[in-house]
Amino acid sequence: MKATIIGGGVIGCACAFELQRRGFEVTVVERNGAVGHGSTSASCGIVRRFYSQPGMIAMADEGAHIWADWNSHIGPIDGDTINFPRPGMIFFPPKLDESVLRIVAEMKRLGIKVTVLTADEVIERFPFFDNASHFPSKQPDDEDFFKTSGRRIEGAVFEEDAGYVISPDLATQNLRRAGEREGVLFRLKCEVRDIKRTHSKAYRLETKDGSIIESQILINAGGPHSSIINQMAGVKLPLETRALRREVHSLRNPLFDEVKGSPVPIIGDLDGGVYSRPEAGGRGIIVGSTDPDCDIFDWVEDPDDYLEGVTGTYWERQTLRLMKRFPQLEQGRPRGISALYDVTVKDWYPICDRTDIPGYYVCIGTSGSSFKTSPVLGMLMTEIIEASEKGRDIDHDPIQLTLPRTGVSIDTRFLSRLRGKIETIGTVFG
Ligand SMILES: Cc1cc2nc3c(=O)[nH]c(=O)nc-3n(C[C@H](O)[C@H](O)[C@H](O)COP(=O)(O)OP(=O)(O)OC[C@H]3O[C@@H](n4cnc5c(N)ncnc54)[C@H](O)[C@@H]3O)c2cc1C
Repeated sequence: MKATIIGGGVIGCACAFELQRRGFEVTVVERNGAVGHGSTSASCGIVRRFYSQPGMIAMADEGAHIWADWNSHIGPIDGDTINFPRPGMIFFPPKLDESVLRIVAEMKRLGIKVTVLTADEVIERFPFFDNASHFPSKQPDDEDFFKTSGRRIEGAVFEEDAGYVISPDLATQNLRRAGEREGVLFRLKCEVRDIKRTHSKAYRLETKDGSIIESQILINAGGPHSSIINQMAGVKLPLETRALRREVHSLRNPLFDEVKGSPVPIIGDLDGGVYSRPEAGGRGIIVGSTDPDCDIFDWVEDPDDYLEGVTGTYWERQTLRLMKRFPQLEQGRPRGISALYDVTVKDWYPICDRTDIPGYYVCIGTSGSSFKTSPVLGMLMTEIIEASEKGRDIDHDPIQLTLPRTGVSIDTRFLSRLRGKIETIGTVFG
């Protein structure tokens, strides 16, 4: 059966690889000249398992196993493949309450190496951190921004072998090569402009250069363009996806040593409002936002027309917030990138599902946090499509996905378009 995927980001390429291996005849249509050059190229590639949803913890853990064994996951291909350093990740939640301890218990249940640290233990283990609490976060122009709160953090959670993938666009190119080996066709520099259904209920895509692509199955993996592609297909979902502008900035790491490397882990500072990870082999540090309540969301109406580059406002607040946690950092000068998340506005979890129109599927709304699970989402989409095309009503009989490396089975209804309320903190930190 022919399947066309719109979007050659990490999601589209992961879906293509899995679907082709299961016997579908897959074409990926990508408007850029290479795969992985959309929002994936800006991804920090952080792989952590600290999530509120048990299903997401399990999927992220499966993802971690795959990234650690990437070459055997994708099989033999030409060229370089990714690296996956694992310096660990420290989380500073605003409170070390029942909800945090529940996550830690679930992580431990799955065998993930995770430790709860007191405020003193944070400093014993990472003497370069400041253990003051800054919650709730403030804007740098708030008169209290630089004042000490007089409070310490209640503690922290350390995920011992969290890591990050260098680099997400290389991972996507690896998936392309692996997909091509299996028979996937990639049509690059090919922008879908219109989607119609024929009398025989196939999808008929018209591209910018006037060519036509037809298939029985169509998958929207358009990242920040997801809502535009749904509109083109005449599909309205009960959950809204929107593009959100982000900036990620880079600083020099003052603790980098040519021989010993860097002792600085990945940081998820929900107390302070930022996340960060090592960059350039530990020579640098990159910092993004966890969207504290005092910041205004920078929603973008047209993903082809947003402010590119770094702005002083974002740079100042993200770097200063990180410097409060890691005082030896020097701000330097504004350096970094801007990019878009594709956010599922209701709960910041991806939507991986069929739709009300037969043959049209979505893997969208990945909300700045689905790089790590992309190979797993590819497997899930394959299960969803196979089951639906065989006539199973997955709305009432949802996919129970058995994760091949960890052996855990999850009910994937929390990623459906019809899900109810789910446990989420409503933001992401890599
Ligand atoms: C700044 C930033 C930091 C992040 N950090 C992390 C992290 O640390 N850890 C983590 O797990 N996740 C992270 N993420 C999230 C993760 O990177 C994304 O969820 C993932 O890359 C999205 O991939 P995608 O394939 O859906 O989107 P994209 O990579 O944007 O791919 C969609 C593709 O569709 C193409 N397209 C769109 N419209 C059309 C059309 N009409 N015709 C043809 N092609 C079209 C685009 O050109 C694009 O290449 C981050 C994301 C960002 C932006």
